[in-house]
Parts: sequence; C-alpha cells; structure tokens
Amino acid sequence: MVKAVVGANWGDEGKGKITDMLAREADIIIRFQGGANAGHTIVNNYGKFALHTLPSGVFYSHTTNIIGNGVALNIPVFIDEIKSITDRNVPMPKIMVSDRAQIVMPYHVLFDQYEEERLGGKSFGSTKSGIAPFYSDKYAKIGFQVSELFDEAALEEKVVRVLEQKNIILEHLYHKPVIVPEELLETLRAYREKIAPYVCDVSSYLDEAVKAGKNILLEGQLGTLKDPDHGIYPMVTSSSTLAAYGAIGAGLPPYEIRQIYTVCKAYSSAVGAGAFVSEIFGDEADELRRRGGDGGEYGATTGRPRRMGWFDCVASKYGCRLQGTTDVCFTVLDVLGYLDEIPVCTGYEIDGEVTTQFPVTVRLAKAKPVLETLPGWKCDIRGIRNYEELPENCRKYIEFVESQIGYPITLISNGPARDDIIYRKSPLKK
Ligand code: GDP
Repeated sequence: MVKAVVGANWGDEGKGKITDMLAREADIIIRFQGGANAGHTIVNNYGKFALHTLPSGVFYSHTTNIIGNGVALNIPVFIDEIKSITDRNVPMPKIMVSDRAQIVMPYHVLFDQYEEERLGGKSFGSTKSGIAPFYSDKYAKIGFQVSELFDEAALEEKVVRVLEQKNIILEHLYHKPVIVPEELLETLRAYREKIAPYVCDVSSYLDEAVKAGKNILLEGQLGTLKDPDHGIYPMVTSSSTLAAYGAIGAGLPPYEIRQIYTVCKAYSSAVGAGAFVSEIFGDEADELRRRGGDGGEYGATTGRPRRMGWFDCVASKYGCRLQGTTDVCFTVLDVLGYLDEIPVCTGYEIDGEVTTQFPVTVRLAKAKPVLETLPGWKCDIRGIRNYEELPENCRKYIEFVESQIGYPITLISNGPARDDIIYRKSPLKK
C-alpha cells in the first residue's frame, strides 16, 4: 500500500509532523522531489528537528528511508544532516539513495546566488540552495547522476565538457572566478566516498516491497501552489510538488498510490514572492506570525519571517484537487484559539466578478479576497483527542472549511507533538 503526504498550498502546512506521525505505521518513507531548499520541522521524543533532505521517517528504527531519483541531492548537506540527528542520540537510521538521483553541484549553489544578485529586486525569492540551476541542468541533460560518480574516466570527461559551458557563463555573464576541472573532480571524488554506503537501485527495491505488501509513504515538499505546472508560475519551485510525481520521483507505478493525505494549515502562510490573495499585514499579521506554528512562522531553512494570511478556500480547494486528495489533514488549528472572530477567504474578486476557481498567475495578480467571518472559540484546544470535545465554534470552523473545499477533513492537528491529533469521520469520506 502506497500513501502520499503532500501540501495543498505554499508549503509549511505541517507535513513534517503528519509524515512523522504516519511513519509510525510505515516500512518505507521516500522523498521524491525537491532538495534542501525547504524544511520540515518535527517535534518528537528526541527533541525538535529541522530536516531539509532526510525523509521524516529517520526517527524510527523500523523504517527504511529513501532519497528517490526525483530529489536534488546535496551530498554534504545530506551527510551533515545524518550527523546532526545522530549527534542528538537518534539511532543511525536505515537510508538508501537512488543511483539515479542527481547531485547538486557546488556551482549550482553559486549560480543561484549570482543570479539573485544579477536580478536584484526582481528576484524570485530563492533560498539559494541551487535548486533551479540543478533542475535546469537535469533537463538540459548536463546533470550528474549519483551512478556517474562511480565511473572515473567518464566523470573526468564530462566534468571538462560541462565546465566549458559553465565557465563561459561565470566569466562573461556574472564576472566571477571560473572553476578548475581538477578541483571539481576532487570534490566529486570526496562525494563518492561519502555517498557510496547508501547507493542502490531504488525502483527495484520498491518493486519487491510493493509485492511484499509493505507500507510505503511518499513525502512531498512544499505544496500545490509551488508546482511548476499547476502553481503560481514563475513563483514556483523547480520540481513537481504533486502526489502524482511521487510515482516518477520514486520509481513506482502510479496506480499503487492509494491514499493521498493533503495537508492544509488552518490559516495561510507563504515564503517568497508572488500573489497571496488572503494576505494580512501589520499588527494582525505580526500576532498570527508570532503565535503560529510551534514558536512562530519563520522559515525552517532561511529563518525568514513568513507572509501571513487567513485560510484561503479557493487556493485550498484547487490545491486539494490537483493533489488527488483522499484525506485532508487540517493542521495548526490550536493557534487560532486567541481570535474573537476568524476571517476566511471564500472567493476571489477579479475584474468585478467573484470566482471560487483558482486562476492562472496573470489573473491571480488582480484578485481581491472575498472574506466571510466566523466566530472564534477563544480557548486552548491542545490536548483534546475526540472531535466531539472540540468547542462548537471550532467544529463549525472545520465543517465550514470542509464544505468550501469539498474534500474530507479526516485528521485534525491541534499541537506540534506526534500525539496532538484528532481522527474524524467525515461525511464526505467515501
Ligand atoms: P512542513 O514543511 O509542511 O512540515 O511545515 P513546517 O516545518 O513549517 O511545520 C509547521 C510548523 O508547525 C512546525 O514548527 C511544526 O512543529 C508546527 N506544527 C505542526 N502541526 C502543528 C499543530 O497542529 N499545532 C501547532 N501549534 N504547531 C504545529
């Protein structure tokens, strides 16, 4: 049985916590896209961790954790991250890296920085982890697969060939120092040593695992609105954030993905540039940011303050639809307990007309939020484990959101810890 955990919105919906929770029943957890540009925050018995590369199952000794072929693998970050958890007494996890995963090269990170410098104020708000240059090279067919590290002669030839092109751009577009092939080769030889113990043929392993009836969990990064095809292009990430891509980025048959948990936060937050229709500002935003998440809404990778907004039914309905949602996990609901009233964005007004369909980017820029206000519940809901025990206004908030988005909310997260979860029977669940 293959399940996926993915985001409905701009990322930071609390997927790490949900994956960590579901990983308890999983045998295998797989990262299938993205790189170290986003992070999951996980709170468990060992403490609080920000993971950027490792799958969220690494805290359980019974799981196998896989970096799939779709991931942008930054080898030093990967090795450091393993050390950062084992240094804090987490037992060494079982980790496998696909021989078809491609490597984030040191120059990808540099190109990201140089391009942001060149663009100045017109930048995309990149985390400068090299992700866009990495995926550009992958599709331009000048990327390096992990497997290529193990063929010295071919590697030498390719490094020289690729650097010819890179050095022209470095010298003439960015006016920066060029890269010496032998130095890059030394770095790659060191990568080979470090990654060798983890490398394997992941899709064959998964084929066997599916046949043996193992529980497999695909772990998404970011959310629908950051998908390069279906998101707010160009303010998106460079690899697909959709559950469907799990099949490709892990090497699984698409029909094996049976359950898709789409994570939606009870309010909105976003990082980076781009239209954000239900965004709020000033004191109202500051207070939600300060109280949000677990210790405030600041980027797990960059520490940047996140942009804040009310729950957006238009974006979330669309986000859930593109994921192929079977279950919505509604998270961080406890944070809203301080509000007398809670605005919810139920429509977008564009050129004088109201729509509930999420528009393409050029029209999104013109959208103004249509807000409905619901009464707050004014109390702390952490610790509650049964849906019926939630305050009436809190249940009404959940049921209102569910009716707007049209997908069943079956999990409600009311705190950062593993056990802060309420299972709900939804009338929409078939
Ligand atoms: P991810 O990338 O989707 O995993 O999102 P983040 O790493 O930004 O996680 C959101 C933050 O909210 C983290 O600090 C989590 O520990 C925290 N968190 C997750 N679920 C809940 C919840 O239900 N309540 C509260 N208060 N915090 C939560």
